[in-house]
Amino acid sequence: MTKLLSSSPEPSTAYDKARDDTIGAPLWLLAELTYRCPLQCPYCSNPLDFASQQKELSTDEWRDVLHQARAMGAVQMGFSGGEPLVRDDLEELVAEARELGFYTNLITSGLGLDEARILALRDAGLDHIQISLQAADEEMAAALAGSKKAHAKKLAMARAVKAAGYPMVLNVVLHRHNIDQIDKVIALCVELGADAVELANCQLYGWAHLNRAGLLPSRSQLDAAEATTQRWRQQLAAEGKDMRLLFVVPDYYAERPKACMGGWGAIFMTVTPDGTVLPCHSARELPMTFPTVREQPLNSIWYESFSFNRFRGDEWMPSPCRECDERHKDFGGCRCQAYLLTGDETATDPVCGLSPQHGLIEAARAEAAADNRSVAELTPRNKRESQVFCRE
Ligand code: SF4
Ligand code: SF4
Repeated sequence: MTKLLSSSPEPSTAYDKARDDTIGAPLWLLAELTYRCPLQCPYCSNPLDFASQQKELSTDEWRDVLHQARAMGAVQMGFSGGEPLVRDDLEELVAEARELGFYTNLITSGLGLDEARILALRDAGLDHIQISLQAADEEMAAALAGSKKAHAKKLAMARAVKAAGYPMVLNVVLHRHNIDQIDKVIALCVELGADAVELANCQLYGWAHLNRAGLLPSRSQLDAAEATTQRWRQQLAAEGKDMRLLFVVPDYYAERPKACMGGWGAIFMTVTPDGTVLPCHSARELPMTFPTVREQPLNSIWYESFSFNRFRGDEWMPSPCRECDERHKDFGGCRCQAYLLTGDETATDPVCGLSPQHGLIEAARAEAAADNRSVAELTPRNKRESQVFCRE
């Protein structure tokens, strides 16, 4: 197994613009303001060792990140976490981003929101709020979130967001324990007046990967959920209701991998709470050292760093990707998924039916089919559990 580890401070690949002008500007900045969160979702995509994070960036450091990213050409911004609402400078940062000309999104559980804060965020210029729901009913939602109050709070905040004039966008992470509720989930979203609903089967990174066997749905669950979603689409259209339903299939049931983040270091960058800069929010799981905004300007990280150049282009690709006609469509799949499944971040993503290691996906489905853990038996994402991984 080949491992190319960068060291810190990381080496530059001596990026040469004259030789390669194919690196475009980052268009998307995801600002993970904090890993703090009052909930404990067992499918959270935050890193397992989030408890070992360094000190969060200060307000001024985040302002500087926003200025640098905008100067590089980024236009879309997501404020995420953890739960970004635990930062009391969120409104200030939204205002700064808006002033700079970003289109701003808040990706939130809804915890920490209230009517006053929604208005303050609106005054700051926030363009868009996406609230996540865990399930259709309080019992399942409480078991997943580790909070009895969360579900009612989310529903109240979804209504308040809509009342404040925002388009209401709901995100529901689907997995084996709630996917059979999809009919009720969609009915709830209709009742809340959602404009768009993302029914996203959980992708298996971070805590979701840890709990993979207990989360992956069966093929028949997935097929039934897709059919129900399609039936709702037809019903909503017949009733003249303009609610968009997006159903995201889990990678483990796809024939080909996704074009992860539109390609490594192509359009997307994530800045984590301590200022580490990643090509996607899961990349911290890879055996590489990523630079931080505390030690290097964003521009230099994007164009020159070893980590951002590591999987650009196709020279790094193994067979069968190297000879494949689809290599510029999916870029060989997801590097994090390849690493989590094979231990080799340069491998063809095993999700691909052409991968020599595709059997790992079939084995994962079989493992999940034999797993009968309840929600209560999944590992919750919290600081105590995270500390186990910090010691390793
Ligand atoms: S997935 Fe759940 S635990 Fe993770 S940040 Fe979101 S709300 Fe918090
Ligand atoms: S072999 Fe590689 S490039 Fe071809 S479809 Fe599969 S993952 Fe994509």
